[in-house]
Amino acid sequence: MHTVVIGGGIIGLTTAYHLLQAGGTVTVVDARATGLGAADVNAGWVVPGDAMPLPGPGAVANALKWMTRSDSPLYIRPSLKLDFLSFMFGMFRASNGRAQRAGLEASLKLAEDSVHLFDDYRADGMDYELHHEGMLMAFQDQELMGHHLGYVDLTSRFGLEPTVLLGDDVRAHEPLLNDSVRGGLYYPKDLHLDPGAFTKALVARLRALGAEIVENAPIDGAEVRDGRVRSVSSGARTFTGDAFLVAAGAWSGNVSKLFGAGVGIPIRPGKGYCIEMAPYGLRSATNLYDSKVAITPFDGRLRIAGTMEFGPLDETINQVRVQAILRAPSGWLRDWEPPTATEISPRAGMRPMAPDGMAVLGRLRKLDNGYVATGHGMMGVTLAPGTARVMTDLILHGRENAVLDPFSPARFRGGR
Ligand SMILES: Cc1cc2nc3c(=O)[nH]c(=O)nc-3n(C[C@H](O)[C@H](O)[C@H](O)COP(=O)(O)OP(=O)(O)OC[C@H]3O[C@@H](n4cnc5c(N)ncnc54)[C@H](O)[C@@H]3O)c2cc1C
Repeated sequence: MHTVVIGGGIIGLTTAYHLLQAGGTVTVVDARATGLGAADVNAGWVVPGDAMPLPGPGAVANALKWMTRSDSPLYIRPSLKLDFLSFMFGMFRASNGRAQRAGLEASLKLAEDSVHLFDDYRADGMDYELHHEGMLMAFQDQELMGHHLGYVDLTSRFGLEPTVLLGDDVRAHEPLLNDSVRGGLYYPKDLHLDPGAFTKALVARLRALGAEIVENAPIDGAEVRDGRVRSVSSGARTFTGDAFLVAAGAWSGNVSKLFGAGVGIPIRPGKGYCIEMAPYGLRSATNLYDSKVAITPFDGRLRIAGTMEFGPLDETINQVRVQAILRAPSGWLRDWEPPTATEISPRAGMRPMAPDGMAVLGRLRKLDNGYVATGHGMMGVTLAPGTARVMTDLILHGRENAVLDPFSPARFRGGR
């Protein structure tokens, strides 16, 4: 069974690897070099306990409040276009505690038993930086912390062993936090990895296993007959296969539309930034939760990531937001000195966002052999191995794992 994977980001590459391991053959086609999408920009965290969908209680009020500030952590660029309005309506409809809890539970199931696969990938010869120091969520606002404490029963049930740190306990755990921090939640089993090194290692391993990797070939056409995709094309170049997987991240909405009327899925970009600087000495990956800033200590450097900006498909860098990300830790950490503008090279990446904040995984409407794996939002690294496993089962063996149900493209008008 030969699968054409459209998109060589973390989701496309990981799925291609699992397809090969399970006996399939693959061609991965990317619009540019592989691994340059959101995969290259993210914080590298594997944090299933934090995998709740973005819409939740208070999301609407926060979005409205932050829309007026050019340096806010969440920004929605207003538009009167119908697809934008319908996306926002879907997002606001999902902004409630019940949907968010159900979404977290679905993601925990998808990630269950798959986090250890990052160790297995290394054991299979992929060389990339991987840390097992856990992740600390730090809170200044008690109400926000209370909201997350409300999920501890669920994350404990999935064996994540969260530790609640109240008051000074959080500083005993991480002495670099200042007195403004009221508490924290530590997930000892969480991991972090260098996402750029991971995608490079995947590509090298895929090539060694016989995959065809085609770069600089944006898919811009598809031939569909009798409910089956026959080929996809990039200009004059055609790619044939038995199955076709759309894993084009934030571009997946546009790519899925190439397969015909009613097939498209509503994915929009949620832009974020990352900046690298000199190391700072944090014990583990640390989420400055109220500021929505993620800090990742790597060997010899520190990566700071943040901001969720809903707008067009556009990777240009907004310096106001970059500076806001760099300033934020001053309110949380002792002796934090933001680097100067000349010391940094910020990068932007677009998270693939569905209106309800959930991944979109399964067979595309009206197609027997067309599939999609996208919409991972803030959790594409965390959910990559679980996604790759269930999608491989579906594509190669037609097995519809119940874990997939909440992620079905059928939940959207035009899905099935
Ligand atoms: C600032 C930031 C921090 C983040 N931190 C984390 C984190 O710590 N942990 C976590 O789990 N997640 C994190 N994420 C989210 C994660 O990065 C994404 O969910 C993930 O990268 C999505 O993977 P993807 O493969 O779907 O998309 P991408 O990595 O964007 O890959 C999509 C690929 O499709 C290609 N493509 C596009 N159009 C076409 C076309 N027409 N034909 C062929 N190819 C095409 C692109 O070139 C690209 O290579 C973060 C994201 C951002 C922006």
